[in-house]
Amino acid sequence: MDIHVKRQKITLPIKGIPKDELLALLKDARKNDADWHGGKLWGLVYFGGDEHNDFLKQVYSLYFSENALSPMAFPSLRKFETEVVAMSADLLGGDRKVVGTLTSGGTESILMAMKAYRDQARAKSLEKITPEIIAPMTAHPAFEKAAHYFDLKIVHVPVDSESFRADLTAVREAISPTTVAIVGSAPCFPYGVVDPIAELAGIAEENQIGCHVDACLGGFLLPFMRKLGHPVPEFDFSVPGVTSISADLHKYGFAAKGASVVLYRMKKLRNHQFYTYSEWPGGLYGSPSILGTKSGGPIAAAWAAMNVQGEEGYLERARVIMETTRKLMQGIQAIPELHILGKPDMSVFAFGSEEINVYALGNLMERRGWHLSYLQNPACLHMLVNPHQEAFAEAFLQHLNEAVKEVRASPSQAAEGMGAMYGMMAKIPNKESVNEFILRFLSDQYKL
Ligand SMILES: *Cc1c(COP(=O)(O)O)cnc(C)c1O
Repeated sequence: MDIHVKRQKITLPIKGIPKDELLALLKDARKNDADWHGGKLWGLVYFGGDEHNDFLKQVYSLYFSENALSPMAFPSLRKFETEVVAMSADLLGGDRKVVGTLTSGGTESILMAMKAYRDQARAKSLEKITPEIIAPMTAHPAFEKAAHYFDLKIVHVPVDSESFRADLTAVREAISPTTVAIVGSAPCFPYGVVDPIAELAGIAEENQIGCHVDACLGGFLLPFMRKLGHPVPEFDFSVPGVTSISADLHKYGFAAKGASVVLYRMKKLRNHQFYTYSEWPGGLYGSPSILGTKSGGPIAAAWAAMNVQGEEGYLERARVIMETTRKLMQGIQAIPELHILGKPDMSVFAFGSEEINVYALGNLMERRGWHLSYLQNPACLHMLVNPHQEAFAEAFLQHLNEAVKEVRASPSQAAEGMGAMYGMMAKIPNKESVNEFILRFLSDQYKL
């Protein structure tokens, strides 16, 4: 069933298509999409259960039309945002001086923090400098994107080859007169380990520069794990020297997509994030973050998600997530060919192998319907655990055991698809050509 088959090229239909027909088409269109609901996807979707999602959808649709571009026109949205920011700051060790903004996601939170550090530095300096940010190799590409957009320089430092945490000696050596901030992750996406935040923030303080903690993944899980008695390294505003934090509500906050917070220890730094323009005939313009028009839906849903779950709800989800993670990690470690990289601090981890081709293993798991992410340098497979996957962990491990045996049985078996692509890319020494390839790949993705 494809409405476009009848037409030569895609154009606006002359006559509107009936709603029931469109709904049927939309449902049908999903048949090749990843089965996140059935627990097959270890990433991308964070799911707090059908009942929770139905409630979020109800809240979201209440604010479907409202536009957070103007907090004056919609004081309710302003209230939700300030309360979400305040609750998040409190969870993350902040006092009442901590301020922040609700953004559309982790990337926007990170872009905004990096812009704030840049503009703070530029306000202090008479010459135009290119501010430098020191970030471990494992930091999210959003920091690279920020540098690309805002004319910053990212200085990458290696991570320890066993713990995968930022190498502190390398961080100290990377400091220059134009360094404006040090970045640490809590935890980093690839290996799920928390960087040594207290030490990074200490180095930042000694040098009177900022320290941004990227808690996009951990911001709404680590505080609850700590309450449950898990050993959680220090990572938030309770660490002196931490000056800003990003934390995603649309990940382990179990809010609707389109919600993250960026928090600052001091208002002065946050104000460097804001943008104002006074000359427009359309009126005086001021905007806190990147977007202009902004749906009220994600904002109301983020507020409702925090309030409906409460501490007890988050604790219960954290318990299930960590129990499932433990089961999965134990099951993987019990397979002699596989090992987990580093000592993951949370519910995100990678596993690799010295003996078998893990990309080929990833393919065989795909054939069984499971989607794992592929990591590089070193090659490994990646998982990120959701509470509903408690019910799927055993089936996953059974399939993983089978797939490992299958790869073992035919060691010459080459990886296909994404696995083959990663294998091929690893052999190209020239990063420029790899970037070219990614660009072509991306461009092809959006062909009709
Ligand atoms: C997801 C993530 C981001 C980026 O967030 P988006 O919501 O995808 O824009 C940044 N840092 C870490 C560690 C993440 O896991």
